[in-house]
Amino acid sequence: MILSVLVRAISGTIPSSTAPRQRTKTEGNVIEVHDLKKYYDPNIKAVDGISFSIKAGRVFSLLGANGAGKTTTVEILEGLRDPTSGSAKIFGEDIAKEYDHIRRRVGILPQNFEPFDMLKPWEAVVYWANLFKTPITKKQAEDLLARVGLSHRKDVISKGLSGGEKRKLGIALSLVNDPELLFLDEPTTGLDPKARRDLWAVIEEIKKRGTTVVLTTHYLDEAEKLSDDVAIMNKGKIIATGSPDELIGKYGKGTKIVLVGAGYETLNEVKRRGMDGIKENGNVLVPVASPADMRKTFAKLSSLETPFKDMYTRRQTLEDVFLNLVGSKMEEGALKA
Ligand code: ATP
Repeated sequence: MILSVLVRAISGTIPSSTAPRQRTKTEGNVIEVHDLKKYYDPNIKAVDGISFSIKAGRVFSLLGANGAGKTTTVEILEGLRDPTSGSAKIFGEDIAKEYDHIRRRVGILPQNFEPFDMLKPWEAVVYWANLFKTPITKKQAEDLLARVGLSHRKDVISKGLSGGEKRKLGIALSLVNDPELLFLDEPTTGLDPKARRDLWAVIEEIKKRGTTVVLTTHYLDEAEKLSDDVAIMNKGKIIATGSPDELIGKYGKGTKIVLVGAGYETLNEVKRRGMDGIKENGNVLVPVASPADMRKTFAKLSSLETPFKDMYTRRQTLEDVFLNLVGSKMEEGALKA
């Protein structure tokens, strides 16, 4: 199924000549989406009137729990689904009219991609490049595998690769046409923390080369680490957009200083010095009103003589922003009651 989706994604990309495509320098907005809707039926409003734009060379993350509408959105942008209404432009071209032009400049890693079990990774890359009629040599395929950190596994039959290695191979395949825009649909779902971090390094390297990346994920730490811009989706709608720092500034609840293991005696002393404080999980938390107040607050706290074990600052994260906006935490993609 996934293979057929990918083949559909590249069909029409195949140029008649075998000469490598010249990469055009992309500037301005790579993607512009206006009031996009996808109703699978009147009751399933998967995408319900979203608008956003993505600037060239940025990593843009669509965040949301299972069923929020992320995959439907990217599949419309990948030319795999037709919207119910609304419009989207990629590289300035309307996707409803011009997708063949767009396809050759786009790379796709679909959700849960399982690459060619019986081929070695380098063979899979050469085969995939041939499908694009942009043949590459074994050496060029190996260079691509090196980019994604798979050199040491290039000669293993792919079914023997770990989950993380399979995703890396999927990314190598998505790069064979040197795309200016790359869609990565939940590239790290189900991977262990080390494999996730390895993939983050791959994505950062891709970004350094100027490729625009659209990432869907339900890992908020991943989005915070990798993204320049984020859109949070909930029930088919975008409920917030901005850089991770902007969202944390706007929807977070500020930085707190944590006095670890502090009791009521310390809490009382904090209040006596004119600061707010609350007890939480065996600690005392002291809110810092603004970054400019940080030093002053530390100075006041450093004179405390009541017992506590440690003192550190706790900045709000995208995780907190999500909780504040959606009213529920997300765990493995599902909202936690
Ligand atoms: P996940 O993180 O689980 O991939 P998502 O945010 O990508 O979720 P979508 O897969 O876009 O969300 O699904 C949005 C909604 O549309 C869900 O309610 C889903 O059940 C529904 N949906 C998705 N594909 C179809 C389909 N082909 N037919 C009917 N309903 C669908």
